Amino acid sequence: MDKTLTHSQIRHAVQDAYDECKNMTGGKNADYIPFLANIDPDLFGISVVLTDGTTFDVGDTGYKFGIESVSKVLTAILVMKQFGAEAVLKQIGADATGLPFNSIFAILLENDHPSTPLVNAGAIAACSMVEPKGDSWGKWEAIINNIADLCGSEAQVLDELYRSETETNFNNRAIAWLLKNYNRIYDDADMSLDLYTRQCSVGITASQLAICAGTIANGGINPVTKVNVFDRKLASKITTLIAAVGFYQNTGDWMYTSGIPAKSGVGGGVLGVYPGVMGVAAFAPPLDEAGNSVKAQAAVKAIMKKLDIGVFNGDSIAVVAD
Ligand code: GLU
Repeated sequence: MDKTLTHSQIRHAVQDAYDECKNMTGGKNADYIPFLANIDPDLFGISVVLTDGTTFDVGDTGYKFGIESVSKVLTAILVMKQFGAEAVLKQIGADATGLPFNSIFAILLENDHPSTPLVNAGAIAACSMVEPKGDSWGKWEAIINNIADLCGSEAQVLDELYRSETETNFNNRAIAWLLKNYNRIYDDADMSLDLYTRQCSVGITASQLAICAGTIANGGINPVTKVNVFDRKLASKITTLIAAVGFYQNTGDWMYTSGIPAKSGVGGGVLGVYPGVMGVAAFAPPLDEAGNSVKAQAAVKAIMKKLDIGVFNGDSIAVVAD
C-alpha cells in the first residue's frame, strides 16, 4: 500500500511519544559500570531525522551520554568500509547469539567465529580489524573520525566513563583473550580491548545518534551534512545486523513488537533505522534486565504505533513537507 506521512504528523508523533513516556517508571541504570549508575535517571530525549535532513527533537536531546554498545554499529560500518561486507561476515559473522551482550558461553559455543560485530566479542574483534594495524593512535583516529562522519559532528570520550569502564571491564578482558585463543583477534588483544572500551565511552547526544541512524536509513549519505559516508550497498548489511541482534537476547521480541530494527546501549541510548524513511534515537538511562532502556524502547515503539508503520508492513512510504 502507498502511504504518505507529513512532517507535522511525524512531529506530533514524536511529541506525543515523549509526553506519553516521560513519567514512565521501571528499570534501573546500569550499575556494573560505576559512572553509569550515577547518571540522572530522569533524563529523556527523542530525536528523529528524516532522509531529507528534517529533524524533530524533544527533551534532553543535547545531553552527552555514554554511547556504549550503540558504538558497535558505527565501528561495524568502519570495518565494512575498510574490508567489505564479505570479509566482516567471514572474520566475525552475522548471526545472533541469543545470549547476553557479554556472553563468554557464546564464544565457547561458536569458537570458529565471534558471531556478529554487534555483541562484545565481535565488537572487540572489529576493533582489532580496524586499519592501520598495530597503530593504536591511528586506529583510534579512524574510529572517532568515522563516528563524526556518521553523526555529522565531532564526539569526544567522556574521560571519567572511560576510567570507570577500564577499571571494571574484567569480563571483556576475558572475552578478548578467549578470542585470541581461537585466532579471532586480528591485532594486539589488549590494544583491541582498549579501543573497544574507549569507543563505548564516547559521549554522544540523541540528536547525533539520530543523524547517524538517518545516514544508515539514507543509504550512507548523511542527510544533514550531505556527505557520502559509506557505500550504499553496506546500508542493508548493517541494518540486517541491527535487525538480527540489536536488542541481544530480546531482539525477536523487539522486532515483533516495534517493527523497526534498532540497537541499544547500556548508557540508555537506542538507535533505530527505518530504511528510506528516517533514523530515530531515544535516550533514557534506566534499563530492563537485558540492558535495554525501558523508556527509549517505549518511545520508539510509540512513534511507530502512532505513525502506523513497520518495516515488514509492505507499505511504500512517502514523506512530504506541509
Ligand atoms: N561497554 C559496555 C560493555 O562492554 C557496553 C555494553 C552495552 O552497551 O550493551 O559491557
